[in-house]
Amino acid sequence: MTETECSCKVGRGVERFGLAEVNDDLVRRWCGEGRERQSLRELATYFNQQLLGAAVESADEAPLSGEIENRYRLLTADDVSSGVRTQTRRRLEAAGVPVEEVESAFVSHQTVHTHLTECLGVSREAEESDPETRRRADRDRIRALQSRTEVVASDALERLRETEALALGEFDVLVDVTVLCDDCGRQHDVGTLLDQGGCDCRE
Ligand SMILES: [Zn+2]
Ligand SMILES: [Zn+2]
Repeated sequence: MTETECSCKVGRGVERFGLAEVNDDLVRRWCGEGRERQSLRELATYFNQQLLGAAVESADEAPLSGEIENRYRLLTADDVSSGVRTQTRRRLEAAGVPVEEVESAFVSHQTVHTHLTECLGVSREAEESDPETRRRADRDRIRALQSRTEVVASDALERLRETEALALGEFDVLVDVTVLCDDCGRQHDVGTLLDQGGCDCRE
């Protein structure tokens, strides 16, 4: 368990909303121990969702799974209309959630970075490691997402097929990520591009 008594914005949120375990989570997610490494932006979203979740829980409105993510999106995403946002705020307020306080406790990815490096003294090794290792780590991350997409798509198609909403025989789902180099017009499979370290036109 990572002990911290820091008074940065993350630390204050941890204390105010009783999120003692979140520090360990942030470190693990950042370093990728036993899981995919997450970006600082993803970590900021994760932290803010934990805040919102804790506030909703302590207001005695038991969150259904997935609901916090959705509410967080409605409160913060650029593509949500101000009407929908206001409605979301009102609903949370009506349920006893201190929405304004929660929103002003939301942190940015820079704040998470400062908290991890300065308050918790963590450095992410790969940030200092060689380019090949870093490329491999990202290639693995992208691959994991590709196979997750394949699974989600296959499941959806299977379900539709079973209920006869989709006319399809046996199938395979293939997810390829192609990178187009604007300088030379070559197309690369993202994995190959990362393996070879760049586009041929740059040699
Ligand atoms: Zn801190
Ligand atoms: Zn090129």
